[in-house]
Amino acid sequence: MTVICRFAPSPTGRLHVGNVRTALMNWLFAREKSGKFILRIDDTDTSRSTDAYELGIKDDLNWLGLSWDYTFNQSDRFQTYRSIAEKLKKNGLLYACYETSEELDRQRKLQRVQGKPPVYNRSGLELTSHQKTAYEDEGRRPHWRFKLSGAIVTWNDMVRGNQSVDTSSLSDPVLIRGDGTFLYTLPSVVDDIDENITHVIRGEDHVTNSGAQIEIFKALSRHIPTFAHTPLLVGKDGKGLSKRLGSLSMEELNSQGFEPLAICSLLGKIGTSDTIEPRISMNILTSEFSFSKIGRAPARFDETELELLNGKLLNELSYKEVSAKLSEMSILGSKDFWELIRSNILKMNDAILWNEIIFKDMQGQINEEDKDFCFGAAEMLPSSITDNTWSEWTNALKIKYNRKGRDLFMPLRKALTGLDKGPEMAKLIVLLGSDKARERLRNFSG
Ligand code: GLU
Repeated sequence: MTVICRFAPSPTGRLHVGNVRTALMNWLFAREKSGKFILRIDDTDTSRSTDAYELGIKDDLNWLGLSWDYTFNQSDRFQTYRSIAEKLKKNGLLYACYETSEELDRQRKLQRVQGKPPVYNRSGLELTSHQKTAYEDEGRRPHWRFKLSGAIVTWNDMVRGNQSVDTSSLSDPVLIRGDGTFLYTLPSVVDDIDENITHVIRGEDHVTNSGAQIEIFKALSRHIPTFAHTPLLVGKDGKGLSKRLGSLSMEELNSQGFEPLAICSLLGKIGTSDTIEPRISMNILTSEFSFSKIGRAPARFDETELELLNGKLLNELSYKEVSAKLSEMSILGSKDFWELIRSNILKMNDAILWNEIIFKDMQGQINEEDKDFCFGAAEMLPSSITDNTWSEWTNALKIKYNRKGRDLFMPLRKALTGLDKGPEMAKLIVLLGSDKARERLRNFSG
């Protein structure tokens, strides 16, 4: 049996770390099983879906390296959904309801007061054709609910083990709104059947949904996919990420200079029993993937961890691997520059800072008490700088000014770079050149 998975985003925004984790789980599982990964665009809500977001999502996935074998849009399949809905209506499994949302609200409040669960009372099922006509004459249009069996639905979840959902505790789900548009529930099942989806991998916020959807699968087909519901992503404080997801979009992380592999390494490993370290290829992530490694606790996403992972990954990259990116960023430095800075940056964009420091005009920092020392250091700096200059020069300064350790090196670093930490000075000063170095050492602004 060929494994077929799908990732089904709604094009109502760009991808963020939460939905990328779902995409990644599907992709890794499909690739590990030499199966197929389908990209389904869930655009049944035509008022909120846009072409721009769809293109953006595809760009995000391509950037991450999560290639798909096949893609399609739900909006091209309304005819199919309608005919399936007709079939369910004929079988008495999809029934018309005429309550307004205010009426449903009132009903729920009343149930609460009476200490009953707020489950839909199924009054739609009792309506005679007379009553329905009367509602239609009032101008009401029906919404359509799927009639749940009231039984307990069970499945063996690849992450959560044996699961059961008591459908008698659920409201019959609305599949079609009053304006005739489809909610997500039915189209998703119809597509999963038509595309022979073998595994539905998604967040655990869909567990209850799965209970209802399994009943729809059963009503429509003998084929029921295997389910895997992964724990949700939370922030490092354990709170939901929803408010911060905008800043954690792929578009944003890409523009900040994060590496796709760092993102995939972190999202593929948090909440699992594997170590959180950068993996240098998607093949490694694929070969390591297993649902048995995913724990039940929420997976904590920490941006600082992403930065560290990203930094470690950058440190592994050769100049050849980043040269195109560096020139795209208008960075003047080449191989020597990259090898000097790569262990000192967390994100690719940090290279811009070192490009400014090394190749552009900038003023360093000189404290009052170091003014004479720096001035003298400028005098003693040879006009041509080699790999040995730093050690020879600082040795001479050590003797002349009787300074050592931090007192000797920190004023030089700060005067030459404006910062108190950074790459190895012996190499940096070679790239900086003698003229620039002298100028900065003399540039005391008081
Ligand atoms: N469009 C749905 C969502 O983003 C898909 C859920 C599913 O994978 O079935 O929540």
